Amino acid sequence: MLTAMGDVMRQAYEKGWITTRDGNISLCRRNSKILYITPSGWRKTIIHPEHIIKVQLTPAGCSIPKGTVPSGELDMHIRLQRYHKPTRAVVHLHPTNIIAAMYAGWDLQELSAEFPEVSRYTKVGPTVPVLPVTSVQLAHSTFQAMKEADTNILKYDIVGQKNHGVCAVGKNPWDAYEHIERLEHICEIVLKSGKSPKK
Ligand SMILES: [Zn+2]
Repeated sequence: MLTAMGDVMRQAYEKGWITTRDGNISLCRRNSKILYITPSGWRKTIIHPEHIIKVQLTPAGCSIPKGTVPSGELDMHIRLQRYHKPTRAVVHLHPTNIIAAMYAGWDLQELSAEFPEVSRYTKVGPTVPVLPVTSVQLAHSTFQAMKEADTNILKYDIVGQKNHGVCAVGKNPWDAYEHIERLEHICEIVLKSGKSPKK
């Protein structure tokens, strides 16, 4: 599955959903406190298992191996991974048409309800407002948008992050990728339709 982490980033780059050093991905195996995450600033086209950083989750936060620099969005990944039980992958990308649709004023939750290819397989959460990249606020708001109000159980598969990207979760890297792909596809369709969002 560590190989799939690199494969997903290469595919995302091929699709134009990230520039070379953008995006990040993490993986936690069933009941494990080890979080595998992509390194900061690394070219995502050459991510292989030996480049993935092994972060230990601790009750107070995490322990990062000396000499390594995990993704700047580590905090977001930790929040989304900390309470997992089954294996979970978290993927953060910058998919062009999803970001364009949010920018144009479309509500991703309302859009997805209109398209069965998304609504049947992918639960879309409320969009996270514009917040600084790699900030605690972005990590916090993304987790809040993804989860049930009163628990730490995740309720949605994907949320948009306005003027920035998306965060998706799945049982493996490709599963999370597919949630992004489905939403990206309908956003492309909606933008091509020429319709404008209702004000
Ligand atoms: Zn980003």
